[in-house]
Amino acid sequence: MEKLYEGKAKILYPEGEDTLRVYFKDEATAFNAQKRGLIPGKGVVNNRVSAVLFRYLEGHGVKTHFLEELSEREMRVLRVEILPLEVILRFRAAGSFAKRYGVQEGIPLKNPLVEFSLKSDALGDPLICPEAILALGLAEEEELAQVKATTLRVGELLRAFFAPRGLDLIDFKLEFGKRNGEILLADEISPDTMRLWDQKTGEPMDKDRFRKDLGGVEEAYQEVLRRVLSEPEKV
Ligand code: UDP
Repeated sequence: MEKLYEGKAKILYPEGEDTLRVYFKDEATAFNAQKRGLIPGKGVVNNRVSAVLFRYLEGHGVKTHFLEELSEREMRVLRVEILPLEVILRFRAAGSFAKRYGVQEGIPLKNPLVEFSLKSDALGDPLICPEAILALGLAEEEELAQVKATTLRVGELLRAFFAPRGLDLIDFKLEFGKRNGEILLADEISPDTMRLWDQKTGEPMDKDRFRKDLGGVEEAYQEVLRRVLSEPEKV
């Protein structure tokens, strides 16, 4: 079937006017696609984890593009016009934030911090401030306020989801889309787009194992799926 778009981790197939089929691949990239590899089974984990989390968030009043799981690696979603922004929420310093400010990975932040990056592979997703987003007309003021408030709410909900499953949510990235003037949470929420540390050992259980060549990448993804599917406090 004809592809609408093929990205680094997913393929989008057109369905009707209103919906798309998303196929999750095992290919992994990091550092703006300078590092490439394969994480066997990743597509299945990311599809299933994203589906569970979208359903959970919908159950708590967050509007998303998710409709249903179609297969192990595929979900059906509403077509949206993606805002050209990556919205990051941080609870602890890690990754590019720790590097930028010269602080140790893992230090808790005094308040959850929302950051925005411009979605641009050519520019390497540069950090962008809210004023620049408005000045460039990338979003309206009310839209930006809604995106920020929703991201903070999603952060609270996700931390509450992962804590009783033995996982500490360090940070995550969201993307939002517009459909008939309404803002919907879109893209995916998976170990590719979150940092999750095992509460007991502090070990990363996410794409950092691939970025940093820590080994046990496949196993970590499978363990995250197992915990996501398990009842809280029975990890
Ligand atoms: N992230 C992502 N896609 C990106 C950049 C970051 O999903 O293109 C996620 C990343 O997995 C982490 C969070 O956003 O959970 C914050 O990432 P950071 O800005 O520290 O960038 P990184 O160090 O991953 O390049």
